[in-house]
Amino acid sequence: MNGAGGRPYLAIPGPSIMPDRVLQAMHRPAPDIYSGALVDSIPPLVDDLRAVARTKGQAAIYIGNGHAGWEAAMANTLQPGDKVLFLATGRFAYSWSEMAEGLGIAFDVLDFGRQSPVDPDRVETALREDKSHDIKAVMVCHVDTSTSVRNDIPAIRAAMDAAGHPALLFADCIASLACDRFEMDAWGVDVTMAASQKGLMTPPGLAYVFFNEKAAQARIRIDRVSRYWDWVPRSRPEMFYQYFMGTAPTHHIFGLRAALDMIAEEGLDAVWTRHERLAHAIWAACEIWAQDGPLRLNIANQDHRSRAVTSLSLDGQNGTRLRQWLEAEMGLTLGIGLGMETPDDPGSDRAFRIGHMGHVNGQAVLGVLGAMEAGLKALNIPHGVGGIDAAARVLAKGSKTMPDAKAAE
Ligand SMILES: *Cc1c(COP(=O)(O)O)cnc(C)c1O
Repeated sequence: MNGAGGRPYLAIPGPSIMPDRVLQAMHRPAPDIYSGALVDSIPPLVDDLRAVARTKGQAAIYIGNGHAGWEAAMANTLQPGDKVLFLATGRFAYSWSEMAEGLGIAFDVLDFGRQSPVDPDRVETALREDKSHDIKAVMVCHVDTSTSVRNDIPAIRAAMDAAGHPALLFADCIASLACDRFEMDAWGVDVTMAASQKGLMTPPGLAYVFFNEKAAQARIRIDRVSRYWDWVPRSRPEMFYQYFMGTAPTHHIFGLRAALDMIAEEGLDAVWTRHERLAHAIWAACEIWAQDGPLRLNIANQDHRSRAVTSLSLDGQNGTRLRQWLEAEMGLTLGIGLGMETPDDPGSDRAFRIGHMGHVNGQAVLGVLGAMEAGLKALNIPHGVGGIDAAARVLAKGSKTMPDAKAAE
């Protein structure tokens, strides 16, 4: 048996599965970029993106990946010598802080380890100690994709308010937008960054930066912003080319349009509910397997877990062995462990991740879990009995609220 015969399945936390509808939307000749349908399609596209971020603020789109979103957001609000505070719950805050360093921005990191979310009390204390308000922004990943921690953004906002601190709140929603509930305006986020290739189901290559009036005011303070990163013309263009500061990313736009249509047809709340239910099914299986054997979920408390990615570990080399077996025998690719190295596991061969973001449904999740259970058996890795049954029971219970089930009734 091997995985080469059927359709391969990529269950890594980005890029995520591209729906056929997205792929088909992109399969067309190059359009005119000076007039016509493409030009007319951008204002509603931006409105629909803002709706997914739940903001009435402005949006700028960049041709770039998530790192471009980080750089764009900081380039418009901070300048060399400014100081920011990173709240680290895994690898991604550190990668982001390296981008800040490259821009000459000073920073402190509050590190909350790899297995727990940001503690708002520590944030409040740190901000109270900053009496002269040197800290211009607080940076946090809503979901850290390496550890699969999900942070409580409203609690962090409340801590900032309790400290009476004026810093901007930046939320990296690259792994969470259109997966985990996120309400930019209601939660008091000033700047949100996202990218095309995770919950938004489109190829990597577009970054989105959403910003409110307070962040727009911060932009005014900056003496010089590179023309390319400047969000003013991108969000309020006088000429069409300013949306993208050059040629529009034509086919990404077609793909994104289809993805946003799919999200709108399902309903954003239903999209969140679906991710919630599927995540619970995955956890149910993993928790049963963990009862007897080395498998561990990285995050113990369900409230602190992402609904889009799950970080797991095995013992010895078994994380890597399981991934390799699944790819070779099942045609299933799971994510590598990221930022989970330890002195006794420098190659991160224990850790691995399941991506369950975007275009995912019950049969896909059961396929992933079934393949994983086959892998545990094939490699003689001890595991509790009944994981798939537990997952099936979660999905059975939730069938009425699953959009596909509703459509079938
Ligand atoms: C994927 C991801 C990034 C990086 O995005 P790239 O497109 O790889 O630059 C940043 N932050 C989070 C939370 C992510 O999940």
